[in-house]
Amino acid sequence: MKRKAGQDRSITANWRPATLAIRGGTARSEYGETSEALFLTSGYTYDKAADAAARFAGEQEGMTYSRLQNPTVEMLEQRIALLEGAEACRTMATGMAAMTAALLCQLQAGDHLVGGRAAFGSCRWLTDTLLPKFGIATTVVDARDPQAFLDAVRPETKVFFFETPANPTMDVVDLRAVCGIARERGIVSVVDNAFATPALQRPMDFGADVTAYSATKMMDGQGRVLAGAVCGSKDFIDNTLLPFTRNTGPTLSPFNAWVVLKGLETLDLRIQRQSQSAITVGRFLEGRVPRILHPGLPSHPQHDLAMSQMSATGPIFAFEVADRAQAHGLLDALALIDISNNIGDSRSLMTHPASTTHAGVAEDKRIEMGINEGMLRLNVGLEDPQDLIDDLDQALRQVGL
Ligand SMILES: *Cc1c(COP(=O)(O)O)cnc(C)c1O
Repeated sequence: MKRKAGQDRSITANWRPATLAIRGGTARSEYGETSEALFLTSGYTYDKAADAAARFAGEQEGMTYSRLQNPTVEMLEQRIALLEGAEACRTMATGMAAMTAALLCQLQAGDHLVGGRAAFGSCRWLTDTLLPKFGIATTVVDARDPQAFLDAVRPETKVFFFETPANPTMDVVDLRAVCGIARERGIVSVVDNAFATPALQRPMDFGADVTAYSATKMMDGQGRVLAGAVCGSKDFIDNTLLPFTRNTGPTLSPFNAWVVLKGLETLDLRIQRQSQSAITVGRFLEGRVPRILHPGLPSHPQHDLAMSQMSATGPIFAFEVADRAQAHGLLDALALIDISNNIGDSRSLMTHPASTTHAGVAEDKRIEMGINEGMLRLNVGLEDPQDLIDDLDQALRQVGL
């Protein structure tokens, strides 16, 4: 592999995000391929036994085993780190592998974590079930209120963990305030930035220490592969995260890494267009349904905060109809928009969180999180927004709205 401009920080430092998304991290083999090569290999060979020994000792550059390094995976890691403005990145097999590794790598029995209450269902399972099982105490708070984080801090608090905007209620967390509280106390803030991606929001610019991603969502953006990533300082990635992941093995497959590399090439285009369409569709729904939760619309109570830390608000928002029966009826009446719990896809997808993504969260906790029985979550894709509005219009009519 030749080191190319895409890997040279002195050159990439001047590149803007749209350029980084296409060229960041690129390294070419001896064939000079234009598109990144896909290295489907689990191992690597050595010319001499001494080379193997030197590589294992860390004295010779080169790869040893694809659980630890792979050229295609490394290109993706460098590209994400550059987009994030992070010193380093490691990819994982899924978003949940990324969240789990980002937390477990730095916590131990006796520690305490403060988490956001509104969160992806499996992230809530980490804070409510997995961590306590290993003696790590957790407190979940209404993350819209920075004071709630402060009030929950204990001497043994090591990590703040939250997402913004949060799934599926679209709660927005004040990154500057909450990460500031963490910084002052030596607490590590871990931000799940899956909804926004670095194309719309860079939490580290507001003081976040670690960002974690489901790259399954906007980064692939076409509903093809599962992938995850964790970004942070070189010290955190190399000395805290890496010892955990290289020995536990939540490694991303090179094929999936390659697909996400292709996805990133169009991330900026897609997310801008989908954000715009989500505003158009949101405006249509605003007058038509009892309640809409869309941080890009002035009706959202945290609209100003969202706009102060995001360049656009992304493809996802939620809205409410009367109850589960009406929500299911609306889903069943859709002719274009698919019933699907995925997000970040170029196809428009709608789901009923209470009976799908958050069905595993106890009902009282669901209500506390603000997920009621009439809530629907919409991912606005790349279709013509007028076709989406027409579909919603006929479906709403069928359920009497
Ligand atoms: C999807 C998602 C995850 C989990 O990612 P997977 O790739 O499905 O494992 C975590 N957090 C948020 C906010 C998500 O949307």
